[in-house]
Amino acid sequence: MEYVPARMWIREGHGAKCLLCPFQCRLNLSNRGRCGVRIFSDGQVWTLNYGYTGAIALDPVEKKPFYHFWPGSQTFSVGAPGCNFTCLGCQNHNLSQVPLNWAGAGRASTKLAEVLVAEALGEGATSLAFTYTEPTIFFEYAQDLSERGQEKGLPSVWVTNGFFSKETFERLENVLAFNVDLKSFNDSFYHKVVGGNLKPVLETIERILNKGLWLEVTTLLIPGLNDTSEELLSMAKWLAKLSVDIPWHISRFSPRYKQLDKTTTPISALEKARQIGWDSGLRYVYIGNANGPGYGDTTCHSCGQSLIRRSGFWVDEYLLEQGQCPKCATPTPGRWRS
Ligand code: SF4
Repeated sequence: MEYVPARMWIREGHGAKCLLCPFQCRLNLSNRGRCGVRIFSDGQVWTLNYGYTGAIALDPVEKKPFYHFWPGSQTFSVGAPGCNFTCLGCQNHNLSQVPLNWAGAGRASTKLAEVLVAEALGEGATSLAFTYTEPTIFFEYAQDLSERGQEKGLPSVWVTNGFFSKETFERLENVLAFNVDLKSFNDSFYHKVVGGNLKPVLETIERILNKGLWLEVTTLLIPGLNDTSEELLSMAKWLAKLSVDIPWHISRFSPRYKQLDKTTTPISALEKARQIGWDSGLRYVYIGNANGPGYGDTTCHSCGQSLIRRSGFWVDEYLLEQGQCPKCATPTPGRWRS
């Protein structure tokens, strides 16, 4: 078994404090971090999941979802075991919720960053996506992959719960875009349903925008838990105040894991949420995990011209010309490939 030294921690008393996420877990010989993948031993913090590619796939970037970042491109998705949240409806709980006595990645199951980047290039990917579980908890591996990827012309994108520290964010070089899961606008939801706090997530969203990186936001709409008009209105208005150009993905929930008692989000609730987003001033509001007219299409906010038509995760028609509307030449915010 080979563990890798962790990079974001300080010594504290007889143990250490992890600085990766706002939990700032105290680690000692008998206590590992909440994410289950960080331990203290021999005077050092170690990460247990370095190089352990619990999930890998070549995906359309739309699947992450990113709709304004290189539409139609393929991204190489990577996720490692563990998470700092404990979402009751987690879709990847077999990977994210590691037991607190998890022994970590064996040497045979790990992949060197160079090997994985070569695999991504061989498959035709144009970016690396850290996804499936929270990238923060495999920070060291993500950082090395990002560096190797950048050297080979593959930038990185993060699909994240946004629950990471300012220090972590400042060390994320080579990451061009983030999709942040804004799960609710209610702190008690964060406590009860996902095991976190709202405020650090909002701070992350602001930091990404302030640094000029590309941001999209996703909200999984769970019937009876985060779908009141009041809550959605507060969330959409807050986002629109930051920037009306933030794409907001309203995603359909299906019962999973410990939320099997919940029902699938009705189409009417998704469409109502989309209307709330538009009414709040957001220009690009999408409905995900559901098929319906125009749910994934991008249109010009100025003249209404169709710019990108999608079926599911696939781009059927792409009419943008160097990021501009072909009819009225209004620029559309995003990162476009010519
Ligand atoms: S990354 Fe893990 S160990 Fe570090 S503070 Fe967060 S939950 Fe705790």
